[in-house]
Amino acid sequence: MNFQEILVSQREFFGSQKTKSVSFRKIYLEKLKKTILQNEELLYEAIYSDFGKSKFDTYTTEISFVLKDIDYFLKNLKSLTKPKKVRTNLANQFGSSKIYPEPLGNALVIGAWNYPYQLSLSPVVAALAAGNTCILKPSEIAANTMRAMAKIINENFPKEYLFVAEGGVEETTEILKLKFDKIFFTGSPKIGKIIYEAAAKHLTPVTLELGGKSPAIVTSTANFDVAAKRIVWGKYLNAGQTCVAPDYILVDAKVKDSFLDSLKMYIEKFRYEADSEHYTKIINDRNYVRLARMIDPEKVFFGGKTDAATRFIQPTILKDVTWNDAVMQEEIFGPILPVLTFDNFNEALHQISEHEKPLSAYLFTGNSEEKEHFISKISFGGGCINDVVMHLSNDYLPFGGVGNSGIGNYHGKYGFEAFSHRKSILDRATWGEPDLKYPPYTEKKLSWIKKLM
Ligand code: NAD
Repeated sequence: MNFQEILVSQREFFGSQKTKSVSFRKIYLEKLKKTILQNEELLYEAIYSDFGKSKFDTYTTEISFVLKDIDYFLKNLKSLTKPKKVRTNLANQFGSSKIYPEPLGNALVIGAWNYPYQLSLSPVVAALAAGNTCILKPSEIAANTMRAMAKIINENFPKEYLFVAEGGVEETTEILKLKFDKIFFTGSPKIGKIIYEAAAKHLTPVTLELGGKSPAIVTSTANFDVAAKRIVWGKYLNAGQTCVAPDYILVDAKVKDSFLDSLKMYIEKFRYEADSEHYTKIINDRNYVRLARMIDPEKVFFGGKTDAATRFIQPTILKDVTWNDAVMQEEIFGPILPVLTFDNFNEALHQISEHEKPLSAYLFTGNSEEKEHFISKISFGGGCINDVVMHLSNDYLPFGGVGNSGIGNYHGKYGFEAFSHRKSILDRATWGEPDLKYPPYTEKKLSWIKKLM
């Protein structure tokens, strides 16, 4: 596939101004919605064959997200594209000032495999809504979902507007040599650096949606039953292969034992077993081996069973874990939950802030002072108090990381902004202008300017 040719055709198409009309954008957003709905079964089958993800999970965590995003833009496009009038300062009277949202141009979206539809198509929807053309490069690691997206999109969309590029690292490397107007990447901090470097060569702006070790703190005033239920759900959803899953727990040492029992109770209740339809498998052998090695048999409190043939890893809880253990050296991205303890709340915050800024952080507490300190003292992309994961389902909140966990954000209007330039225009009247700013300069003019400014 000649990616350069496709990009050249997208550049010409963007130059035709067609993508800028709101009605054009709406027609194609409707078309994308229709295409997804008509091919829903194909999408479920593809992801199931990649890593055994159930229809229920695929709908609730992937397809519904993309459809919701399309509906959001169909409803809000008119107001999002409208120039915003702002105040005009004294020096620029008589004039009016407006900010015009302008599409950046030709966008590249590079997706991750763990939520392949949501993480590929939601940025695509935002790119098109903002008036760009787009090349999507889904992750080759979920190969069937990549093919499914390529099939349904490339058969239904003009390639000069939206195109799905198939292939692996070699193809991505080729694509990255091209000059885009925006690159939106979801994946690991390690590959994020490669993307950032490639983008820098063309001064292309990026959004980098990366990962990290996201903590969940459980204090002695938490509602343990709610905390355990929500943490177990958020951790073992997609078998822990979720960027915002709680990576590890920091629990108050005084309540550790009873909290561990609550976690175990919910894992058993939710029946995450080898033959459970709703329990996802590990994506590939490489990740299976990586994860299996993280399970220290001496620290297993619950679970620990694995099966290489089906890439099954049982929901596992490790206790008495320290920062020296293998499981604490990298983002886990799988169904292993290490539990660490703290003696006082500030020490828990200190443990977090000694490491890279995480994508998410969670706090379970009944104490409002602890809530305030959690928000103000440590840096992380976003998170929840008394819940996990769900902050990303609220489109009124920008979603993204900070520091090592990412650059920029999206969802709802923030997605539109990620793919837009804010063009500032000062429109001035041709009358009513004092002579102050023009030479020849005099002391009198300067004293007036000092007063005015
Ligand atoms: P990854 O970084 O290995 O791969 C992501 C993408 O980069 C893939 O499309 C892949 O083809 C491409 N890629 C891989 N090697 C490349 C190279 N050398 N040059 C150019 N492109 C290359 O990440 P992954 O395994 O797909 O996903 C796991 C990571 O992504 C975790 O760190 C997770 O936290 C993070 N993640 C973040 C979010 C988020 O929204 N912030 C969502 C999902 C996953």
